[in-house]
Amino acid sequence: MTRPRRDPRAERAAFLVAPGEGARPRLDRTSRRDGGGRPRRDPRRERDGQRVPGTLRPRYDLSQVALSRVARIEAGPVHEALPRAVQAPVPKVVVLDAPAFLVLVVPDAAGGRLSTHDRQVLGAARLLAGREGGVALLALGPCEGSGPAGADRLVRLDDPDGHDPESYDPAGRAARVAAAIGELRPRHVLFPESPDGGDLARRVAVRLRQPLFSDVEAVAAASLARPARGRRVEQRAAPGLLATLSSDAVADYAGPPREAREIAGPAEAPVGKDSSKGTAILSATTIPADPATVPLGLASFVTAAGSGVTDLATFRQVVAALHATPGASRVLCDAGLMPRASQVGASGTVLAATCYVALGISGAPQHLQGVAGCEHVVAVNTDLHAAMIERAGLAIVQDAQAVMPALLRLLAQEAGRPGEAP
Ligand SMILES: Cc1cc2nc3c(=O)[nH]c(=O)nc-3n(C[C@H](O)[C@H](O)[C@H](O)COP(=O)(O)OP(=O)(O)OC[C@H]3O[C@@H](n4cnc5c(N)ncnc54)[C@H](O)[C@@H]3O)c2cc1C
Repeated sequence: MTRPRRDPRAERAAFLVAPGEGARPRLDRTSRRDGGGRPRRDPRRERDGQRVPGTLRPRYDLSQVALSRVARIEAGPVHEALPRAVQAPVPKVVVLDAPAFLVLVVPDAAGGRLSTHDRQVLGAARLLAGREGGVALLALGPCEGSGPAGADRLVRLDDPDGHDPESYDPAGRAARVAAAIGELRPRHVLFPESPDGGDLARRVAVRLRQPLFSDVEAVAAASLARPARGRRVEQRAAPGLLATLSSDAVADYAGPPREAREIAGPAEAPVGKDSSKGTAILSATTIPADPATVPLGLASFVTAAGSGVTDLATFRQVVAALHATPGASRVLCDAGLMPRASQVGASGTVLAATCYVALGISGAPQHLQGVAGCEHVVAVNTDLHAAMIERAGLAIVQDAQAVMPALLRLLAQEAGRPGEAP
């Protein structure tokens, strides 16, 4: 068999530009006629595209990126810039038409919002439901965000007596939950092991004469486990009808949002001896705590200042306008600008707040330890790469001294008192 001889010299010459122009390698391969099939990248043009036109400054406006959580506030009112950040694609909703069985979740949902603990109970319910079962949320009053938290069905218990869902009527609540269980016939019912949820679960267990497996810390489709005898023993049991789940034991549901289709609850809520009427408790109302004086560890909404805040007078106005509890980083407390009791962090107070607003705080590890349990974190910082921005669900990359008056203007506008804003 014969093969044509290769001529390396001729091959090299083919890649050189014409001899008259000097023996320079032919670098412009985009002019090749044969076509490689896929377009050539031009890294230089891509790099230029990432710069602000006319300058060497990189384009940091991450709000252009669809999934970005960063909002960049240019000069002007806050509300004009915020909607640009929320452009994430809408995930597909999971629809379960005929669940083989139901796992009922009775959340605390104080103030009509699911707490972190409530969402963990929904996560545990999803584990028990598997692919075949459906998770139903029993809402004693309004309840937001049940679909994304993993509920296939939403059962609203209307109160024929017009009771405030927040009012203290534990016996009445237990009667209504027991009636709903009787009607829906779920395979399992889960409650959060919280002061209210635990109390309700025990009352329901007594009414239904069913055993309650309390303080569950591990959930699988075939078994529940809890610690016993000072955590020296682990008790396991097949999931029964009633159980309560300890907090931070099971992760909340992280899958695509579920349908949360509303279904009818029990037609009539039992009254009479089942409600608080006729019991030793004659009346009870919830007295809201004063956010300015509530201990930091119990506050549900904290707004804190770091060394990036120089205008502390405006900061105090913002705290008051937001009805928040004031907090601070250690730097401000060490400088005597904020009281030591307001220090957030490992050597200050560890928060259990639902929302934390950090103004001009870098997010040192000792500070972040204090906000680990916060559900929503908003950060205002001039440095896009600050650790607090990384931790935040919503970040505003701007001078805190400019954001604070803008926020006050917005709050005054919403309260219908635009003249009061600075
Ligand atoms: C043993 C130990 C325990 C500690 N415990 C705690 C604790 O419990 N709590 C705590 O907070 N710290 C604690 N610290 C201190 C901690 O390490 C940090 O030094 C401190 O948290 C930094 O505070 P800061 O973020 O306010 O200040 P800095 O680190 O100085 O950060 C200021 C931030 O503000 C930003 N900024 C600047 N100007 C502006 C502006 N105009 N607008 C908006 N942003 C701006 C900057 O970009 C920066 O990110 C501890 C340290 C040690 C060693």
